[in-house]
Amino acid sequence: MRKDVDPKLPPGVQLRISATARRVSLRVDASKGVVLLIVPRRVSLARAAVFAQENRRWIGRKLAGLPAPVPFADGAEVPVGGVIHTIRHRGGMRGTVWIEGQEIHVAGRPEHLARRLTDWLKAEAKRQILALVERHAAVIGRRPGRLTLRDTTTRWGSCSPNGALAFCWRLILAPKEVMDYVVAHEMAHLVELNHGPRFWTLVRRLVSDVDGPKGWLSRHGIRLHRYG
Ligand SMILES: [Zn+2]
Repeated sequence: MRKDVDPKLPPGVQLRISATARRVSLRVDASKGVVLLIVPRRVSLARAAVFAQENRRWIGRKLAGLPAPVPFADGAEVPVGGVIHTIRHRGGMRGTVWIEGQEIHVAGRPEHLARRLTDWLKAEAKRQILALVERHAAVIGRRPGRLTLRDTTTRWGSCSPNGALAFCWRLILAPKEVMDYVVAHEMAHLVELNHGPRFWTLVRRLVSDVDGPKGWLSRHGIRLHRYG
C-alpha cells in the first residue's frame, strides 16, 4: 500500500490508481455519477490532488450535467419496459412485488424495499429474456448455452464462443424493443460470431427495427444505471 496521506479531493471525485496510465487525468463515470481522478502509480497523490483542485470548475460542470441517481424508495419513479412507474411501499403485507397500472407495489419491511425490488426486476428481466431467446431460437435453429444476468456498465449483452449468453438486467428498464434487439443481437452471434453483413442480415430477420434501439441505447442507455 502507498503511504501517502489522504489527498483532499473536490466533492464527487474518486481516486483510481492505475498501473498503465502515463499521466494524471480526469474521466467522467456517468454510471456512478462521479469524476474519476486517474493517477499513475509513480505520481504522488498530493500532486494528483493539486491537479484535481486546478480543474475544479471543469469537474463541477461535468457533475452538474450528470443524471442524478434514483435510489429505489417509496414515491421514486422507475421505468419498467420504458414506461415510468411510481414505487409504492405497502407495509404490513408479505414481501412480494406487483404492478398495478403505472405503480409498482413493494410489500414487506421498508428497509428491504430496494433489495426486494431489484431482485424482482432481475427475475422479470430473466423471464422476458428467456421468452425472447426461445422465440429467436426457433427462427435461427440454435440454442444458447448458459444464460446469466449481470450488472455490466459497458455492455448490454455478450456471447462467448462456447455459446453462453450474458445480459445486463437493467434492460428490463428500457423500452421493450430495446431488450428485444439486444437479445436478437446476441442470439445472432450464435450463428455469426462477428459483425459482418451476414450477421446484420440475421439480426434484421429477428427484429424489425435495429437502428431505433441502437440509437436509443447510445443516447439513453447510460441513464439506466442511475436506478437502484
Ligand atoms: Zn455483437
